[in-house]
Amino acid sequence: MKLLFELEKSRPSEYVNAFTEDVALPDFGKKIELELPELSEVEVARHYSALSRTAFGVDDGAYPLGSCTMKYNPKINEAAAALEGFRDIHPLAPEKDVQGALKLMYGLGEALKEITGTDAISFAGAAGAHGEYIGLRIIKAYHAARGETRRKILVPDSAHGTNPASAAMAGFEVVNVPGDDSYGVDLDALARLCDEDVAALMLTNPTTLGLFEKNIAKIAETVHSKGGLLYYDGANLNAVMGVVRPGDTGFDVVHLNLHKTFSTPHGGGGPGAGPVCVKAFLKDYLPYPVVVSDGKTYKFAAPPESIGKVNAFYGNFSVLVKAYAYILALGAEGIRQSAETAVLNANYLKKKLQPEYPSAEGVCMHEFVVSMEKLKNLNGVTALDIAKAMIDKGIHPPTMYFPLTVHEALMFEPTETESKASLDAVAEAMKQIYSEALKDPSAMKTKPETTVVSRPDEVAAAKALKLTYDL
Ligand SMILES: *Cc1c(COP(=O)(O)O)cnc(C)c1O
Repeated sequence: MKLLFELEKSRPSEYVNAFTEDVALPDFGKKIELELPELSEVEVARHYSALSRTAFGVDDGAYPLGSCTMKYNPKINEAAAALEGFRDIHPLAPEKDVQGALKLMYGLGEALKEITGTDAISFAGAAGAHGEYIGLRIIKAYHAARGETRRKILVPDSAHGTNPASAAMAGFEVVNVPGDDSYGVDLDALARLCDEDVAALMLTNPTTLGLFEKNIAKIAETVHSKGGLLYYDGANLNAVMGVVRPGDTGFDVVHLNLHKTFSTPHGGGGPGAGPVCVKAFLKDYLPYPVVVSDGKTYKFAAPPESIGKVNAFYGNFSVLVKAYAYILALGAEGIRQSAETAVLNANYLKKKLQPEYPSAEGVCMHEFVVSMEKLKNLNGVTALDIAKAMIDKGIHPPTMYFPLTVHEALMFEPTETESKASLDAVAEAMKQIYSEALKDPSAMKTKPETTVVSRPDEVAAAKALKLTYDL
């Protein structure tokens, strides 16, 4: 074949002898010629640089994608994760050869237990939703050990969409708890729905509306009094870390999204880490393996009533390295300060967007939801049109049409890493978009205009995926 022939000419023959025969695909037994593009290095470099400019990331500009916590990820975390001693180890290496890696997992576990107010941790979760699934399996095992088969999981309106999905995956029946007038859990409805068949209530706090659930103590008491457990979806911990600990407010199981709160780049579906933290009475059910230490050496151990293995190995180790580097760099003070700044930034932007982008009154947490319903009723410009117009202004669109309880919703989460100047620029761009929408509503339907693709068919993009490449 051509490529190999060229190799032979340019390199000493002893190196290429092994390669001079056509490559045979072992499984199919047929011979193929590799169709490699014949391009120069500079052409390849320019091709990929051009491709990279068609994407948008946190390093390019403001990225207020609600619920996703797209904060800036310090590059030093990447350097830490790329250290040879971490990067080049194998998951099956003997424990004595990877003491540093185990020590890191142990140390990170101690920090996260402190931050969440819990007693034991597993790093098996590969992302937030996986952490939820693991937490629910633990809850199921706990009830089963007590001879109970509780079937229901209570999920409030304000929960993240993954909560009911995870509950169904874990074999539970999902029971929706309606919200009250101030968007919290309706306590009367909760009292009615809470019975001895409830395995747990899953609470997202702050809620998907960016509000702190005020009645936690009452909710905890109601669920616990019927023998149910309290599950805390901690994916929004960025708003409260260092300020409130879920374990102190009655929660028994907490999952965290390290990729959101503790700074790992996580666009496009990965990588993530969804560790699960539990109170002492649940530690025997954690997935296998957990890291233990006698203070000198570190090793893997199997919790006695473990729900088993839920991941090929131990979760996404490089994400753990980044999270640990981030936590150590910030320290207790810095952790609290980033939560406070995230909340301050969200409130600042929320206020600046008034009155064109109306949101719920009062103070929000790390994110807020505006409704474009009035504008839509006025001239047909939708939340989607506004989001698309933002792309032309160099801002990543916010989360759209979520939560479902708000019509024409746009959910902004600026995060603590945006400066005041950046927030002011976002606010200014939003005002411009609004006046453009009033002036020429039909022009809003063809935005964005500055991208390679303007409005892809979103249904086809999701339903007719093409995942193979035909040579
Ligand atoms: C992002 C998020 C999840 C899901 O996390 P993944 O890592 O995407 O699986 C769950 N709950 C809340 C509140 C979230 O914001």
